[in-house]
Amino acid sequence: MPNSGPVVRSDGYELEVDRDLCVTLAVCLGLAPETFELDTEGKAVFKNPEGEDIHTLLEAAKGCPVNAIIIRNKEGKRLWPDPEVD
Ligand code: SF4
Repeated sequence: MPNSGPVVRSDGYELEVDRDLCVTLAVCLGLAPETFELDTEGKAVFKNPEGEDIHTLLEAAKGCPVNAIIIRNKEGKRLWPDPEVD
């Protein structure tokens, strides 16, 4: 089973890739190469959810042209896309 999440990092942030939205453009791999890789279907999966710090992952999520990367904080509030908190 491909690991598109959700996965919870040791710092409490939760990461997920919406496989229905992901269109294989690999922007996320360019911005966070230690965290993401593409599976055999060309969808982003987590190679190592701890691979980059949360700021880098937020930039990767913002760089995804279809907003397929979802990040939540420890309280379960969505940071990206459509942030529920500042
Ligand atoms: S940038 Fe977005 S669409 Fe492209 S591979 Fe990553 S998650 Fe998928």
